[in-house]
Amino acid sequence: MNVQQASFRDAAADKSSEPFILDRSSFPQRVASVAAAAAAEAEDVDRAARFPQTAIDAARQHRLLGVQIPQPFGGDGASMLDVTDMCYALGRACSSTAMIFAMHQTKVACLVRHGAGSSYHEALMRRVASEQLLLASSTTEGQNGGNIRFSTAAVERTDAEISLVRNATVISYGAQADGIVTIARRANDAAGSDQVLLAITKKDYTLERSLEWETLGMRGTCSAGFELKFTGSADQIFPEGYDKIHAQTMTPVGHLCWSSAWAGIAAAAVERAQAFIRKAARGAGGQMPPGAAHYTAAKMTLAKLRAMITANLDIYLAHEHDERALSSLDFQSQINLLKVEASELAVETVMCAMRACGLAGYRNDGDFSVGRLLRDVLSAPIMINNDRILANIATASLMSAVPATLRD
Ligand SMILES: Cc1cc2nc3c(=O)[nH]c(=O)nc-3n(C[C@H](O)[C@H](O)[C@H](O)COP(=O)(O)OP(=O)(O)OC[C@H]3O[C@@H](n4cnc5c(N)ncnc54)[C@H](O)[C@@H]3O)c2cc1C
Repeated sequence: MNVQQASFRDAAADKSSEPFILDRSSFPQRVASVAAAAAAEAEDVDRAARFPQTAIDAARQHRLLGVQIPQPFGGDGASMLDVTDMCYALGRACSSTAMIFAMHQTKVACLVRHGAGSSYHEALMRRVASEQLLLASSTTEGQNGGNIRFSTAAVERTDAEISLVRNATVISYGAQADGIVTIARRANDAAGSDQVLLAITKKDYTLERSLEWETLGMRGTCSAGFELKFTGSADQIFPEGYDKIHAQTMTPVGHLCWSSAWAGIAAAAVERAQAFIRKAARGAGGQMPPGAAHYTAAKMTLAKLRAMITANLDIYLAHEHDERALSSLDFQSQINLLKVEASELAVETVMCAMRACGLAGYRNDGDFSVGRLLRDVLSAPIMINNDRILANIATASLMSAVPATLRD
């Protein structure tokens, strides 16, 4: 049992003097139920490139969509430790469900960490918990790729009303979501990097489909392109500028949740390779099949991947309420490198698992098929392209000294 952070309680209108107690004991069972629903439809979701409706319905039924919302606002107050565990468990079951959950939780984290004190955002937090709203993300715009810190579309203001028209190249589950958290240029005369974040709900916007989603993997995320047209009120803009939200929450939480989902996919592949090697060894009277070395490599790579995620999670948890530490050059470089390294290691793990299984892994049918997992995990290095991230970090990393000792 863990007593929840006082800062969440302070922001709530709760009059009780009783502290809220975070009871994690129900999480494993709730997540297991959702994972079972996700696993049951994973193949069909991939084949038909359809939204994993049953899995997301199960997440609603088990109240996982609002699990991170602080208790005073009606959620469980789950920590990033809990949420990343959930992303991993779902990744083992269905990659698309895990990625949808990871993206949703990243948006919820922005709401929880940067919406306190704003009546609109606090009300939305309550709605996410009570109505189990699913939130999508709109960062990619036009031909701008993963350059999230630059927006073209600007918030237009007329009296009390604001509006936004955005060429949203990709919005995963845009058509199925109940709301969208989107970046925008602050105003018509603002620079592209002077951005705000808005949380908008379905009644405030329309989506006109501009690009279909016919992809190699992650087909159930239904990440089509849309023209987003929004009209609403100025209080839907988060009180803090996007530069802060990006550094302190969007990037770290996004990278931790995505990496955990990818690690889950990698774990599913290793599990298949293990079953294949066991069966092959049994069939050969205990003799290890030639692919066993690839299985060992898959297992070791998965261990490295998990260790890297947990190390970064520990650092994040140690500093999650320290704005300066989160915004520091060192932390930003590290959390960006996590995304790059985790995505590469996840691909490597699944490749090793495929090679361990040989033809049985390469086939699209059978118990040892690794094809879907490989197609899904190949999205990881391009989901904010690793090349772009590495190029951005290069300048920053020139400014910090190379450590003189192992533990510096
Ligand atoms: C499964 C999935 C779901 C997604 N869901 C969403 C969503 O819900 N909402 C959303 O807004 N976006 C979403 N995206 C888009 C994502 O956020 C990125 O915008 C997108 O992956 C970037 O694609 P890109 O590589 O084509 O673009 P870019 O980043 O522009 O890269 C294009 C090419 O240029 C190269 N490149 C770019 N910059 C550099 C550089 N500095 N140095 C060297 N080479 C460089 C890259 O290697 C790449 O080959 C999703 C993407 C995926 C894969």
